[in-house]
Amino acid sequence: MIRVLFADKPENWGRYETPLTEAIAATGVEAQIVQPGESDPAQIDYVVYSPQGPVQDFTAYTGAKAVLNLWAGVERVVGNDTLTQPLCRMVDAGLERGMVEYVTGHVLRYHLGIDATLAQQDGVWRHDDGVPPLARDRSVVMLGLGALGKACAEALAGLGFAVTGWSRTRKDIPGITCLSGDDGLAEALSRAEILVSILPDTPETTNLLNADTLAQMPKGARLVNPGRGTLIDDDALLAALDRGQIGHATLDVFRVEPLPPEHPYWAHPQVTVTPHIAAESRAETASEVIAENIRRGEAGEPFLYLVDRSRGY
Ligand code: NDP
Repeated sequence: MIRVLFADKPENWGRYETPLTEAIAATGVEAQIVQPGESDPAQIDYVVYSPQGPVQDFTAYTGAKAVLNLWAGVERVVGNDTLTQPLCRMVDAGLERGMVEYVTGHVLRYHLGIDATLAQQDGVWRHDDGVPPLARDRSVVMLGLGALGKACAEALAGLGFAVTGWSRTRKDIPGITCLSGDDGLAEALSRAEILVSILPDTPETTNLLNADTLAQMPKGARLVNPGRGTLIDDDALLAALDRGQIGHATLDVFRVEPLPPEHPYWAHPQVTVTPHIAAESRAETASEVIAENIRRGEAGEPFLYLVDRSRGY
């Protein structure tokens, strides 16, 4: 019998109790799931971890075979000096669908000019202003082609958008123009009528969207950021919005969360703030991922979604 510690916020146990218990049982592994304080840390085999949970020092978990993050992003644990165990991140079908729906919705808002439509319910029949272009004539750029970026890129390409993706290593995804590296970034930015950033927070991605890179985008480009707040130099974005270089930004993630009420993003007419709700791990599907990694650990097989700590994601 192995011991699995559920170290998310205590209030989340209610959502996970049944699916996690059933998913682990379905693998054939005999496990007892315990809460923090219920067991000697040295006796724990796997730590189901969240940055919001009570366990942030892993020193006492001397027998743990892995730390299994319930979140896709690992920036709050990857540099933890007490973590000597393998770290796995979350790649969850439910999380992915949530991100696809968020990104598709906000891209379509920009593509169709929905804001203008809502503002024009004034009795004036503006037929001659024209219809929106088709998606095939709209260039959308996805920064990040990982689990989430690739799914979003494919969904947008499925709607007909001309999608360009950019990642650290070159990809080959049918229907997507794939770019990488510094030259690739410049080319991607120059095409970005709508830019979506789904990059992780690492030293290399910090302030990737800055005065220089924002200036490389077409004037009036729209930005959707459900990646991480650190990807954006906030002062540079506000300046770019003020001079019309960036037409509008939809921001889900911020350097400080909750975004303080006095932050200029809240009042800026060209910014939509959403409160880090683009996507979250769904207990049913996330439990299956956790269970599969426990099964793998017990079978001596390689873990899924192992984080490369030197890369930071
Ligand atoms: P992945 O690790 O699967 O993908 C990351 C992508 O970013 C990869 O394509 C990777 O390139 C690329 N990348 C990383 N560093 C660089 C770099 N320096 N230059 C260019 N490309 C780079 O992550 P996910 O897709 O699962 O998640 C992405 C992020 O989404 C998470 O880290 C998290 O921050 C955010 N997120 C936000 C949520 C929300 O609700 N707002 C919810 C969940 C996640 P390569 O493929 O070459 O390695």
